[in-house]
Amino acid sequence: MRLLIMGPPGAGKGTQGELLARRLGIPRHSTGDILRQALRDGTPMGLEAKRYMHAGELVPDDVILGIVGEALAHEESEPGFLLDGFPRTVAQAEGLRKLLLDQGQKLDAIVDLSVPDDEIMKRLSTRGRKDDLLETIQRRLEVYGKKKKPLLDFYAARGVRIVSVEGVGDIDDIQADILERLSL
Ligand code: ADP
Repeated sequence: MRLLIMGPPGAGKGTQGELLARRLGIPRHSTGDILRQALRDGTPMGLEAKRYMHAGELVPDDVILGIVGEALAHEESEPGFLLDGFPRTVAQAEGLRKLLLDQGQKLDAIVDLSVPDDEIMKRLSTRGRKDDLLETIQRRLEVYGKKKKPLLDFYAARGVRIVSVEGVGDIDDIQADILERLSL
């Protein structure tokens, strides 16, 4: 299965995405994790991404598409993948569509994890990642709020199945909900 998981910062995309990918036996690619690793390694890409990440802004589309292209290049014969935190813009979604088209593939479904803003603020203010400062969180929420609808519209217009799940409550219950909604 080829899946995307979307949701605001702190929605639990990483947790739910990892559980889901493990269950399906597919790799999970998180652009946020890849960028943070590049930052730790001090690569040129990490250095370029740093200022955007620390400001809660999106890293430029060409950098992100480079990362994803590389991640997916080795997986043409895999049974699928789960993308976490990508695409975040319509330009990225277009780029992904082309990448998949070249490989004769398409997306099967999108998991849209929703969590109310006040719950997000509570979660992130205790998480302690470098970009989890109050202003940065607010900016990331704002950016997500602006980009979410055009992205969902993009996929709805192309007939991709969108599964919306409430991301509040017990981790296992949320996972069960996702599996049920995906008919797995
Ligand atoms: P969160 O969803 O909590 O913001 P992520 O780990 O997904 O966490 O992303 C952290 C940061 O990495 C984002 O705020 C952004 O700066 C950058 N980033 C990650 N994925 C993308 C993407 N697809 N496009 C642009 N920037 C991205």
